[in-house]
Amino acid sequence: MKDLKKIAVLTSGGDSPGMNAAIRAVVKTALHHKLDVDGIYKGYNGMINDIIKPLDRHIADNIISLGGTILKSARCKEFRTPEGRKKAYENIKKHNIDALVVIGGDGTFAGGNIFMKEFDFPVIGLPGTIDNDLYGTDYTIGYDTAVNTVVTAIDKLRDTATSHDRLFIVEVMGRDAGFIALRSGIASGAKKILIPETKTHIEELLERLQKGISENEASAIVIVSEGDDFGGAMEVKKIVGEHFPDYSTRVTILGHIQRGGSPSSYDRILASGLGYQAVLGLLDGKKGVMVGSVNREIVFTPFEKTIKHHSKINVELKHIAEILSG
Ligand code: ATP
Repeated sequence: MKDLKKIAVLTSGGDSPGMNAAIRAVVKTALHHKLDVDGIYKGYNGMINDIIKPLDRHIADNIISLGGTILKSARCKEFRTPEGRKKAYENIKKHNIDALVVIGGDGTFAGGNIFMKEFDFPVIGLPGTIDNDLYGTDYTIGYDTAVNTVVTAIDKLRDTATSHDRLFIVEVMGRDAGFIALRSGIASGAKKILIPETKTHIEELLERLQKGISENEASAIVIVSEGDDFGGAMEVKKIVGEHFPDYSTRVTILGHIQRGGSPSSYDRILASGLGYQAVLGLLDGKKGVMVGSVNREIVFTPFEKTIKHHSKINVELKHIAEILSG
């Protein structure tokens, strides 16, 4: 983009580990290209309420290993209204910002897309969500760390599960997507993985548990995505309890620990590369696109596509996980 002098960066929606590494990459790449950078705090709220501050190179010191986001994140209802977005645009103009990098999920891109069209203003997106459900990238920033967090937790649960011949039903994040459940299920040797993308036939789980009991299996781990159609871990425990009243069953809901923690090296590297490419993309005149990595290639996918489509899960992995845990 000609005349690009100052960009701004924000994080929005649910936070994810690696957002800071992405901010760092955006700041350092922008400064390298002699661009000024502002930080917008608390997502789109910061645009509307003028929480916008210049970022110098020191802001990026030692943040690559930090979870969360130093710019804070938030959901913002007001940005969904034309009046809210107008206020946001006025603040952007007041700070002489020429282009925006938004880090978040598909909601963040939906907001960025409307803003871009309403004010003919360049916006580019980075995929920051633990859910990995964004179309246009093989991995989202934060997903790998979240899976590692789940696997570490399940390894610990397995120790106690084995010692007591227990069944642990572990609920993981994923209201609409089973990526976290699937990958952590394979890595932790789960007996069954229940995900929103496939219909859950609960009798299959009961048969699998019956087989384990007949074969004197010492313990079992079942992973349930919070958005599974049968219900969450508590519903699964209830039906298991009805069928196997003598079986010792425990529920663990991992919750928000899945969002936190120092990002894995994979997430740091992904965030660094995508953050760098976002700034190059803006310099090159790109806008209204999310920067992703597909088959190790950098791909710019229009916001419209990332909003409309979802990344497809590889259902075969579920089958593989179940065979390997048999
Ligand atoms: P996560 O994957 O963690 O849910 P997300 O980016 O999808 O992240 P959302 O809460 O859906 O999170 O969206 C973040 C923010 O983007 C919203 O709070 C709102 O400010 C803005 N936004 C989302 N959808 C729209 C829309 N249709 N119009 C305007 N703004 C929107």
